[in-house]
Amino acid sequence: MLNLILFGPPGSGKGTQATRLKERYQLLHISTGDLLREEKAKGTVLGLEAKKFMDAGELVPDAVVIGMIESKLDEYADKVNGIIFDGFPRTVAQAEALDDLLNAKNTCIAKVLFLQVEEEELVKRILERAKTSGRADDADEATVRRRIVEYENKTAPVAEYYQQFDIVTKVAGQGSIEMITEALAAQIDVLI
Ligand code: AMP
Repeated sequence: MLNLILFGPPGSGKGTQATRLKERYQLLHISTGDLLREEKAKGTVLGLEAKKFMDAGELVPDAVVIGMIESKLDEYADKVNGIIFDGFPRTVAQAEALDDLLNAKNTCIAKVLFLQVEEEELVKRILERAKTSGRADDADEATVRRRIVEYENKTAPVAEYYQQFDIVTKVAGQGSIEMITEALAAQIDVLI
């Protein structure tokens, strides 16, 4: 399996790029944000619990997202070429849990592609996206900034965690969508 993590702050283009890369490399795209929004929309117990955190711009508890990933892996790991993770892992505990889950399936993360975007550009992009995303957490600038603080405090250490295995590559996340896809693809091509 070719398993990749698309890593970076909110608004860095993970979702946009993951959608393009999954087509190009025939990978399963797993976005915990999308999975949580589906649960919210269906009004499940999990969705209602997650809503409180999501609307406040905070991370949903680790156990909730790890459980979702575990069931996706059980369902798909032996059916796909590989997985592109988008928005997961977002804490070191999630990264450790992911390693254990992948180990149990005799696989691992091949590469963490880390999108580099300046903070003011992130805020600008998310507020622009709010016009079409319908996401409450995109529309309010204070919530957007809260998400960036959560990223700095809890998620940025995940890059350091993977650096110990020497699998992190930084990629410029500003420029045209096509150029960024090509820069990411160049990194993936050397793995296959
Ligand atoms: P995203 O669509 O990736 O921007 O995620 C939207 C929101 O969902 C985040 O602000 C969090 O509240 C929640 N979320 C998504 N993925 C995770 C995760 N891996 N861990 C904790 N919370 C998450």
